[in-house]
Amino acid sequence: MIIILRVDAADADICAVEQKIRDMGLEPHVSKGIQRIVIGAIGDENKVDKEVLEALPCVENVVRVMKPYKIVSRDSHHENTIIDVAGIKVGGQEIQVIAGPCSVETAEQMEQSATAVATAGCSMMRGGAFKPRSSPYAFQGVGVDGLEMFQTAAKTHNLPIVTELMDVRMLDTFLEHNVDVIQIGTRNMQNFDLLKEVGKVQTPVILKRGMSATISEWLMAAEYIAANGNHNIIFCERGVRSFETAYRNMLDVTAIPVLKRETHLPVIVDPSHAGGKAWMVPDLSRAAIAAGADGLLIEVHPRPDEAWCDADQALNPEQLNTLMGELRGIAQVIGRSL
Ligand code: PEP
Ligand code: MN
Repeated sequence: MIIILRVDAADADICAVEQKIRDMGLEPHVSKGIQRIVIGAIGDENKVDKEVLEALPCVENVVRVMKPYKIVSRDSHHENTIIDVAGIKVGGQEIQVIAGPCSVETAEQMEQSATAVATAGCSMMRGGAFKPRSSPYAFQGVGVDGLEMFQTAAKTHNLPIVTELMDVRMLDTFLEHNVDVIQIGTRNMQNFDLLKEVGKVQTPVILKRGMSATISEWLMAAEYIAANGNHNIIFCERGVRSFETAYRNMLDVTAIPVLKRETHLPVIVDPSHAGGKAWMVPDLSRAAIAAGADGLLIEVHPRPDEAWCDADQALNPEQLNTLMGELRGIAQVIGRSL
């Protein structure tokens, strides 16, 4: 940790800061320059409350040297972590595409969706039974019955299921329904109590990026899950809120290489909630794979214009099929498979 003091700090002030650092169990090393006085504090930064030092009148700035996230950091594990979802490997050489409707609607819609997902060669299926809608008057999801419909359809095609958990009280129900991957949505990225609870199980978690979350906040959210014992975490970039109104969210492609450098955990991309329009999904998917994403989370519906939720952004089965073919070509060029 580096503590930068005000230029006019008196010797007595410097001594007081040094003592505070020693009290916290670290060793201070003072360096007096012409413009600045800097103290390097050597030791375990976790023991330091940065704000206590910042509150001292002669302290101008306190800079952490160590990363606040540990388990999820690549510093703690250099190799890529591969997460096993019912035999499907996420984060390895193979790119995984998860596709399915925004929400579970009916048994028939789920069966047709599952057929489309399996026919296109995707490896997992998505679908929300509980939907986080901006309006309380909008369709909220079909609930527990949806988990059953989802499992029935997905099992027929051997597809592991990905579905969003919004309420900690539903976690046991998710486990009873053998949900293969728990999705934590954008709106819940910093619901710390929810993160702690999914941290206590071993079910893989897809952690979506918060609407306006920095990469550091996102990594810390993952650390909450990991610190509670569940290391099976997959990051999902889904676009961030920006000044632009021409599309739903701005896909942060840059986040892909940054995250791949910062964490050993897999990173996937949701092009559907980024663009918000079906016609944008192929281009954004290609960009994500080319930039190093380990997979995609794509919305598809047997009849997009009849979808109960996010109709504008759902691909139809044929479009998904075509896209998968194109993505295979890109995967091959970058030495991966799909
Ligand atoms: C979803 O995947 O259906 C969803 C609601 O996504 P997000 O949390 O990214 O908005
Ligand atoms: Mn959706």
